[in-house]
Amino acid sequence: MGQMALHAQPGLDSFAAAGGDPLALSREGWGALLQSWGWERFHGFQAFRALHRRHLASWDEAREVPRRLREQLENRLPIIWPVIDERFISGDGTVRSLLRLKDGEHVEAVFLPDEVFEGPAGLKRRRTTLCISSQAGCPVNCQFCLTALLGLRRNLGAGEIAGQVLTLVHEHGLRRGTGPCDRLNVVYMGMGEPMLNYEAVMQSVRLLCDDEGLALPPRRVTISTAGIVEKIRRFGTEPVRPRLAISLNASSEDQRQALMPIHRGQGGFAALLAAAREFPLAKRERLTFEYVLLAGINDTDADAGRLLQLLQGIRAKVNLIPWNQGPELSWQTPSPERVQGFQARLLAGGLPAFVRRPRGLDVFAACGQLSRRRAGAYTINMQSP
Ligand code: SF4
Repeated sequence: MGQMALHAQPGLDSFAAAGGDPLALSREGWGALLQSWGWERFHGFQAFRALHRRHLASWDEAREVPRRLREQLENRLPIIWPVIDERFISGDGTVRSLLRLKDGEHVEAVFLPDEVFEGPAGLKRRRTTLCISSQAGCPVNCQFCLTALLGLRRNLGAGEIAGQVLTLVHEHGLRRGTGPCDRLNVVYMGMGEPMLNYEAVMQSVRLLCDDEGLALPPRRVTISTAGIVEKIRRFGTEPVRPRLAISLNASSEDQRQALMPIHRGQGGFAALLAAAREFPLAKRERLTFEYVLLAGINDTDADAGRLLQLLQGIRAKVNLIPWNQGPELSWQTPSPERVQGFQARLLAGGLPAFVRRPRGLDVFAACGQLSRRRAGAYTINMQSP
């Protein structure tokens, strides 16, 4: 295979960067790759569809592909999906999975089923959300996050990121156009800072949004960042651009620096909020700011007032996330009255604010908890079904 020729083709760079993972290859990339093997371009598109629409376990199942090509693919590009090693089912239907990647590394992904929401004309619709990881561990040392305690183990490839979604879609019977959900959302809010693995994350988005694959609308994908300013600006220029969420969690420079030590290195609020202000939003789109409420730390009315000032002039909404009590970190959860008070202050200031309902509290609710447990940081007496 001529590497020079391949690198000039769309999608093949990320394919090479991901160590030749067939799950990382774009539809166009598949066309170019199979042409370089002497096949037709459309054979490549068939291979892409077999993976991204049908989630085939092996090339042998791709009956639409000529047998000789199936054999070549099996020998040269065997399919290795992330494998669900452990699965924990909450009483509220949330399923947390620990997925094993091909080198034995593990990441967490969460299935959040069946939230009922009001659709057009007041119709009740159902929404399913998948939360996935972009890195194994994380290099960003947020003080309220268990994943931070793992450090960065490694970046995931685009195929490993998209593969989490496809594995969960298959596992939970959410096939495109069928299955129990009207609407599938994917949020990059699991382990890792997506903007520090930018190329692979964006390639995974393009894979998931391809019409011949899962065909997720980009507006149903959300990338959450701790605030990597340069990448936020670049993200705004992407042709396939999901929604953006910024994990803010503080109302003053010192507070944010203490909770998220990456803050000052990124230029503080001035740089972060300038990037937010200049972010090119679509009509009716709002930038999401996430705010983990920690009792006695960032949950006072004064905090809410400062938050209102900070976000002035930004078409924003705020998701309030009362701290999930877990092992190893000693923050406290604010009372429901305090959460309500904080929300009321934001609403009174004209800022849409929502309280995120805690999900899966009985199954290691905090991101990173499964991995910390697996790494032997603690034991919890719970059986995986
Ligand atoms: S909150 Fe996100 S960015 Fe911060 S340490 Fe955890 S995984 Fe990394």
